[in-house]
Amino acid sequence: MNVTIDPRAGFCWGVVRTVQIAEETLRSNEGAVYVLGDIIHNPREIERLRAQGLVTIAREDIPSLPPGSKVLIRAHGEPPETYRIARQHGVEIIDATCPVVTKLQERVRKFYDLGYQIVVFGKPNHAEVVGVRGVCNDECIVVQSVGEALDRVDLRRKTVLFSQTTMDRPTFLQLRDALTERIAELVVEEMGTIATEFHAKDTICGQVAGRENDLRRFARENDVIIFVAGRRSSNGKVLFDVVRSENERSYFIEDTSELRPEWFDGAERIGITGATSTPQWYMNQVKDEIVRRFATASATQ
Ligand code: SF4
Repeated sequence: MNVTIDPRAGFCWGVVRTVQIAEETLRSNEGAVYVLGDIIHNPREIERLRAQGLVTIAREDIPSLPPGSKVLIRAHGEPPETYRIARQHGVEIIDATCPVVTKLQERVRKFYDLGYQIVVFGKPNHAEVVGVRGVCNDECIVVQSVGEALDRVDLRRKTVLFSQTTMDRPTFLQLRDALTERIAELVVEEMGTIATEFHAKDTICGQVAGRENDLRRFARENDVIIFVAGRRSSNGKVLFDVVRSENERSYFIEDTSELRPEWFDGAERIGITGATSTPQWYMNQVKDEIVRRFATASATQ
């Protein structure tokens, strides 16, 4: 049995940066450092940083922190309200928002200020989308499907479509095309009396979109794929779907205890990969575990 870790798997640079900022802050700080929500959607990495003094809190906890406490904002970003509450209570913000997300927030704010109807392809309660909703005063329409967009978007208004950075590009393009088509129909139906303006801004992160082709190849090259990610990772779900569409023998695990011997029946080539929030060190552990528990059994079949 040959077990390979996907050379392109592991943290994206935005997560690497966030974890580095957290570790530097922990090193230079005497007491605890707080983070708003899980620093990344990976229980192993959360545990590792918790052992160094990183405490996960919610936004509602900020007022009860001692003044001068340090609160880290993770890669997903936060709405402006969070910064305001922190200032009010004398809490220091360590801003580790991924620059890609900051850019998305800036673009949304710009179009909002220009009076556009903002449409976001994303999950309404995902932390990144909560931040984006905050920068436009929650006056945006968050959609997850074409049907929802056609129902809810008023195409008589000038409109701009954005995407949460970790959504899948094919659906984003379907949304763009469906809205463009609907506008063309409206123009005909209303005999050119409506003033339409529509922009689609592809704000899907290159770290997610760019990985798809390599991931497809990796999935095809192996008999079995073990996909390692936190179950709450949005990017993990998207990338796992990509892997699954190429290789039916793909399995999602969060923990090595979920590995099943029957997955490896007759398999020669095992590939291990993961989301942009899956630490390299944990994939190494998964590899060791597979080799230790299943390599001999498979070799004897
Ligand atoms: S996936 Fe992209 S947007 Fe998200 S944290 Fe990583 S680099 Fe930033």
